[in-house]
Amino acid sequence: MAWDVVIAGGGFGGLYAARTLEGILPHHSARITLVNDVNFMLYTPLLPGAAAGTLEPRHVVVPLREELEYTDLRLGRVTGAEPEKNSIQVELIEGRTTDIRYDQLIVALGSVSRTLPIPGLAEHAIGFKTLSEAIALRNRVLLTFEIAEALDDPAARQAYLTYVFVGAGYAGLEGLAELQDFAADVIDLYPRCRTQGMRWILVEKGDHVMPEIKQDLAEHAARELRGRGIEIRTGSTIDRVTDRDVEITMPDGTTELVACRTVAWTAGVKPHPVVANLGLPIGRGGRIEVDEFMQVKGFDDVWAIGDAAGVPDPARKGELCPPTCQHSLRQGRAVARNVAATMGTGRKKKFTYKTLGVFVDMGRRKAVAQTLFLRWRGFPAWWLARTYHLWMMPGVKRKWRLVADWTVDLLFNRDASELGQLGHPPTLETMQLEAQSSGGTTTDGDAAGLEQAAPTL
Ligand SMILES: Cc1cc2nc3c(=O)[nH]c(=O)nc-3n(C[C@H](O)[C@H](O)[C@H](O)COP(=O)(O)OP(=O)(O)OC[C@H]3O[C@@H](n4cnc5c(N)ncnc54)[C@H](O)[C@@H]3O)c2cc1C
Repeated sequence: MAWDVVIAGGGFGGLYAARTLEGILPHHSARITLVNDVNFMLYTPLLPGAAAGTLEPRHVVVPLREELEYTDLRLGRVTGAEPEKNSIQVELIEGRTTDIRYDQLIVALGSVSRTLPIPGLAEHAIGFKTLSEAIALRNRVLLTFEIAEALDDPAARQAYLTYVFVGAGYAGLEGLAELQDFAADVIDLYPRCRTQGMRWILVEKGDHVMPEIKQDLAEHAARELRGRGIEIRTGSTIDRVTDRDVEITMPDGTTELVACRTVAWTAGVKPHPVVANLGLPIGRGGRIEVDEFMQVKGFDDVWAIGDAAGVPDPARKGELCPPTCQHSLRQGRAVARNVAATMGTGRKKKFTYKTLGVFVDMGRRKAVAQTLFLRWRGFPAWWLARTYHLWMMPGVKRKWRLVADWTVDLLFNRDASELGQLGHPPTLETMQLEAQSSGGTTTDGDAAGLEQAAPTL
């Protein structure tokens, strides 16, 4: 009888778990099913590159079907589970809801942006966690340039040219650095904006940026950003966001109202909310409670990994592993071996990985990096970061695409087209209404128009 192994979530943890299971389980001994809400894995460390236009959005994702040989990929959203009945509930992409039964379940549902109850934050700020958010930020920069260029009042223009990032972990710092670099590149195409100048502000509650790396490297990164004119406000918080401004409270308690149209929220992550509906024990930080084998406490047949799971950190006694892809993908490989061991192949082992290094790409061919024994800064760190991601990116074809994008970026200026309408085609009805209101007519026989209109579902 073949075992049913179900993996919920196809990001770093889920994809590597599926690939490892395919490699170690004897063929036909198990049916592996991977449930994910999209048909690709997002390679998040390269998200800032996509936001900055150095990388094509399609080149920072890994199509799951290309990477998996005989795993059954089911596109849908996990909505709940009944562990006592060994089943998970899934809302399939076509809208149908189904129960999927398992003998062994691996939960790898990742995380979402952690927001706070700050007035206006949810309505007006943009996160930096998904591909659509990264591309939306890039488009926002271009759109604000276009609007500011058309304005006569310098004060009104300044608000459009002010960008506030909240949270100075690696996602926030890299995101801001790469986007500012992109903006500095394309602003030459906007004479009024160039004359006026931009304002970029990084707000961080802690007393220094990048708590993930050694303080001297973090300070080096902060100095580099300040050298580019970026204002770094440590020990500060935001208290209110509107569509016109953001209120920042400084360490001494004074407040500043900054007129701006773009606020990016990059202040940490929390486990995906659905993990609370799975009937599993939830521990520190809302993460699923697991032991050092990544087995969920109280369940022999459920495992959890990645940002959604509280895996004990082998490098820091009493702490949980940090939410990073280097941990998630190694947990994916390790949990696959433990699941296989439960089914009679190999031996169960504890998770023992310790961080090998951290890279923070700051654009302009500069980075800071911390590897096992060495600290790197400037160009060597940037080169090391790119080499590492090239090595880690799955698939030869995608490695070549990265090389091609990076080479083009070295040779040419960045593209300033604002493609916010991509993927959101007008419906035929909207086009017809627009044609009527502008005095034109659209008839059923307008074949060329019909052929060009993208289909909507
Ligand atoms: C901008 C940014 C930069 C980063 N840079 C780095 C870096 O340089 N180095 C590093 O080590 N880490 C980095 N990280 C962190 C890293 O991305 C995460 O730690 C890692 O992706 C976690 O892996 P995971 O498998 O737990 O979750 P994910 O990789 O997020 O995978 C979760 C998967 O589950 C899917 N999913 C979610 N909900 C459902 C549902 N209900 N049903 C079905 N599927 C669902 C998601 O679509 C996703 O495919 C970065 C993160 C961000 C946001």
